[in-house]
Amino acid sequence: MSEAPPQTHRERSGAQSAQDLAERQRRHVLYTWTAQRQARPVSIAYGEGAMFYDHEGKRWFDFESQVFNCNLGHGDQRVIEAISRQAQELACAHPAALFEAKARLGELLAEVSPGDMSHAFLCLSGSEAIENAYKVARMITGRPKVIARRRSYHGASMGALSLTGDARRRPLEPGLWGVLRADDPYCYRCPYGLKPDGCALQCATHIEHVIEMEGPDSIAAIFAEGVTGSNGGFIPPDGYWRHLRELCDKHGILLVADEVFSGFGRTGEWFAVDHWGVVPDLMTVAKGITSGYAPMGALLMRPELASHFEDEQLWCGLTSYAHPISCAAAVATIKAYQEDGLIDNARQQGAWLKAELEAVARSEPWCGEGRCLGLFGTLELDHHYIATLEGGEPAFSVALKDALAQRQVHALYKDHNLFITPPLCVTSEQLAEGLGRTQEAIAEALTRLS
Ligand code: PLP
Repeated sequence: MSEAPPQTHRERSGAQSAQDLAERQRRHVLYTWTAQRQARPVSIAYGEGAMFYDHEGKRWFDFESQVFNCNLGHGDQRVIEAISRQAQELACAHPAALFEAKARLGELLAEVSPGDMSHAFLCLSGSEAIENAYKVARMITGRPKVIARRRSYHGASMGALSLTGDARRRPLEPGLWGVLRADDPYCYRCPYGLKPDGCALQCATHIEHVIEMEGPDSIAAIFAEGVTGSNGGFIPPDGYWRHLRELCDKHGILLVADEVFSGFGRTGEWFAVDHWGVVPDLMTVAKGITSGYAPMGALLMRPELASHFEDEQLWCGLTSYAHPISCAAAVATIKAYQEDGLIDNARQQGAWLKAELEAVARSEPWCGEGRCLGLFGTLELDHHYIATLEGGEPAFSVALKDALAQRQVHALYKDHNLFITPPLCVTSEQLAEGLGRTQEAIAEALTRLS
């Protein structure tokens, strides 16, 4: 990849400066998940593969794949052309409209989804997929409660936020009635103080206790991220997902895998649950389905669940259901994953990344754990070590973000976790260089506060 962006691209990105745009946006457009004064705008003019260029033409390592969605990588002409063709042909369509991209997307999703999952409800975001999973689970089972885990994120709409376990839920409590909390498969800081090789999956057994105490007949579904996303990239121990499957089968509870973050190759399989050969009843996806080129989410379900709605009304819908441009983007994106063997690439690059992150954890006192599945890598910093720094975690967080930005690494650091999640097309050279820069940034932030 060349350092200097081609002139045509620079021209296409426009002559506006990032500062001008930031001032104009600041006046009229709100930033998400932040006090507005603390917002950190991302200057992105255009991108190519695993890299993007800011408005000054500087090249960045996209280690967050924008917001964990650009799995395919930037500037893929196949998707761009598919969107443009669809816009020419049919840009606006009734939710019940018939068109090729919609039919093809249904087929492709059935092809790549785990097991016999066969039907898709096509919405616009991960949050909407979760909302509809919740509604469908309640409609099918007739049961009012659901189980969700403590360190989870399921989306920003009120229902999805009620399922969410992390702090983003707190300002809006109380949310939905009947969301029961369960512990996470967070092995590094196991809630029971156990180690994975001798824990007998206490965190899954705990869910069984919750079910028994609440009454199995009252619980519609268990919601769990395939691999926990923005709360820390927790990889469940082998046997965990199977255990959940068995619990659900035993009690007639629906198993919902939230693969919004972990799906579409991020972990080196199409979906994280594929690592353990588990077929959920319902599965929510978004992000990588279009690689962020157009907004889309989907709720996928097995045939016996879809058949419930053959004669019963499906009380779900939205104006932009199966939006033509999103469908076209998703079809082209899924085909590109297949054509380019990107899931295999995620697995191969991920094996290297895993070894590197584990080595960092072994050798550096500031690092608690390095964990990685496919191209979903996380460095969890040692909480005690970070607390000894001047200003503790809040100061370190600011210092690290500055140091990463100075080295043109776009990566998320949140609650002691630094995520290494580049687009799946990343090359070994880009991954190694970006990781080197990331380690330099950590070292600088630590030195500044020691
Ligand atoms: N579920 C998980 C696991 C997520 O990571 C997210 C978003 O980050 C969502 C749901 C919500 O998706 P969206 O932001 O598209 O509404």
